[in-house]
Amino acid sequence: MTTSKFEPERFRSSAYLATIDSAAAPGHIHISESSLTALFREAETGYPLEICGLLIGCINNGNWLVHEIRPVANLNTDRAADRFQLDPTGYQTIDRELRGTENEIIGVYHSHPDCPAKPSPTDLDNAWESFAYPIISVCEGKTTEMLCWSVNTKNNRFQNVRIVKIA
Ligand SMILES: [Zn+2]
Repeated sequence: MTTSKFEPERFRSSAYLATIDSAAAPGHIHISESSLTALFREAETGYPLEICGLLIGCINNGNWLVHEIRPVANLNTDRAADRFQLDPTGYQTIDRELRGTENEIIGVYHSHPDCPAKPSPTDLDNAWESFAYPIISVCEGKTTEMLCWSVNTKNNRFQNVRIVKIA
């Protein structure tokens, strides 16, 4: 097996591999081309640091419908791509803003600078049930891939969520 410059050895460790379920998630994530463009731009602008933010929208029949993305400060300025710390004040402000609207926070995105778009054990530890977790891989400042994950609560592993682009 070759080791890619952008796949650090730890991503093949049993601890990392154990975060991923072989089955795909039953739900899909629906996201617009313009939201994707904004996500990639933010991930590239933040490089080589990890960026993070919230997905705003609604959950319908187990599918995540993203209406908006909102950057939130990452309090962890480490580029290690194995932990990020979403600013709780930013979270609370947005959560409060959404009260009484039909939108809610439905997920958390973050970038992995020079690392694959696969989850780390820390990502799993911090993941909430029913949230969608897109991870954007940014290599040498360019977005190479985005994968989305959600937790299967039966075995506490991430399942891959199919990304459906909408207009
Ligand atoms: Zn991560």
